[in-house]
Amino acid sequence: MPSNTLPIVSPRLGEPYLLTPGPLTTSYEVKEAMLRDWGSWDDDFRAMTREMRNQLLALLGDGRADYDCVPIQGSGSYCVEAMLGSFVARDDKVLVLANGAYGLRAAKTMEYLGRDFHLVNKGDYMPPRGDEVAEILAQDPAITHVLIIHCETSSGILNPVEELADAAHAAGRKVLIDSMSAFGALPLDVSRVKYAAMVSSANKCIEGVPGFGFVIARRDEIEAAEGNSHSLSLDVHAQWATMEKTGQWRFTPPTHVVAAFLKALEGHAREGGVAGRGGRYTRNRDVMVEGMRKLGFETLLADRWLSPIIVTFFCPADPNFEFTRFYELMKSKGFIIYPGKLTVVDSFRVGCIGQMDENTMRQVVEAARETLDEMDVGTAAPPQAALDERKKLAA
Ligand SMILES: *Cc1c(COP(=O)(O)O)cnc(C)c1O
Repeated sequence: MPSNTLPIVSPRLGEPYLLTPGPLTTSYEVKEAMLRDWGSWDDDFRAMTREMRNQLLALLGDGRADYDCVPIQGSGSYCVEAMLGSFVARDDKVLVLANGAYGLRAAKTMEYLGRDFHLVNKGDYMPPRGDEVAEILAQDPAITHVLIIHCETSSGILNPVEELADAAHAAGRKVLIDSMSAFGALPLDVSRVKYAAMVSSANKCIEGVPGFGFVIARRDEIEAAEGNSHSLSLDVHAQWATMEKTGQWRFTPPTHVVAAFLKALEGHAREGGVAGRGGRYTRNRDVMVEGMRKLGFETLLADRWLSPIIVTFFCPADPNFEFTRFYELMKSKGFIIYPGKLTVVDSFRVGCIGQMDENTMRQVVEAARETLDEMDVGTAAPPQAALDERKKLAA
């Protein structure tokens, strides 16, 4: 019973919706696509790999002819590590722009790689800006690459990726992008932002299941990356060279995950591609945020920085509010939310991505309203400290 129309399948299967940034709620047809086995060297599976790479490249917009797509086994972080290890030569230096957990993880990766980097740490959610990037690059000619996190999923902030990439390119540096939680829903046209490489993974906005990610990079950058990698299994050039020659992945591919991903790509195209998907997520966010604000909840971020991927809310000040109880009660109503990751004030997150629509989001808000009632929380208004914290953003 494949489902092409929203609202989707989870209630029918008796599963809660995952209001999380991946793994996320997938369609029935995506799950169903995994009900058979493929031989990794067989022509059928090689054709599936080829098809998947082509379809991903087709999402890039004009200018895609210069790019190629290299899938890598593992979760998204494996791809970040593969990208950094393959495109950053041993005597290169990376400017890492961090404003949350994923930027810091990229910096940590650079430490493991033993390659030079300069970390700009903006804290939990302040966006890095183009002028400060320009200034740092002017002062440090050793920097060869700038790493940008497209949507920093830990706060949900949508970083000004074009502004940052423009600053890097104006200074003659290369751009690497972690677009893990944005690719497929937010436009990143290569005719506009000519990045050297970017990464995303199967279980985010394309709405597949977890098991691999992919690097999309300029073909000349891939060719030049030979011999750079610190790692056998994370060598983007070697994976690409083998795929080009034999059509195969170098080591055991996640065959079922690739089959599911091809189904997910069909759903993505049917929905209208990047614009259609981004449109649904934006409506999800708008309906959810509006409803939550009516209950007294406040978002960490001003509207300008709110991504349509995931939204951070402050926990209410009311002493009857306790996050673990809120979480359990929301789960019992069919919604799995996500704990927050801020250091200063308590927060939680609600994802907007996956197989759900604005009707689902209305149910989420209704579940939150009932849960507050059950907890005897009068209003969801946050403590003053949270609002003071947020003022820093506007400053
Ligand atoms: C999900 C995500 C990653 C990768 O995380 P994994 O847990 O390794 O899949 C990296 N960067 C961002 C911005 C993400 O949202």
